Amino acid sequence: MIKPDAVENGHIGGILDKITSAGFKIVAMKYTQLSRRDAQAFYAIHKERPFFGELVEFMTRGPIVSAILEKDNAVEDFRALIGATNPADAAEGTIRKLFATSIAENAVHGSDSDENAAIESAFHFAGREIF
Ligand code: GDP
Repeated sequence: MIKPDAVENGHIGGILDKITSAGFKIVAMKYTQLSRRDAQAFYAIHKERPFFGELVEFMTRGPIVSAILEKDNAVEDFRALIGATNPADAAEGTIRKLFATSIAENAVHGSDSDENAAIESAFHFAGREIF
């Protein structure tokens, strides 16, 4: 996902350019907005964390871009491309270093395993929307 902060700040094009330049193929993509229920379900793993309420507020406050990306070693390579959760710790040239503003508003989400990538893909897309 390209998160609401990055959409608000005009970074959709810049982020997609970094993603496709790094060799990822876009196999599904949409411009959409999460409901509270969507965000609570998507981030259910974090529901006991102190920042859960803030995370749901943030992720629902405006539109996002969701996409499914394909590449060999995609999960690991995408997490390297986006950088650390906190942009202050992210390596130079990473998407979060370039486009994120804080640990909370960190521009992009990437799946953390192949298993979660499959679950998150099914959360956002119907089979007929995946090419
Ligand atoms: P990620 O896998 O790098 O996205 O990081 P996590 O799975 O640890 O956290 C999920 C998301 O929760 C992050 O991308 C942030 O948007 C948000 N988040 C993480 N830590 C904090 C925090 O300390 N405060 C707030 N408000 N949000 C946070």
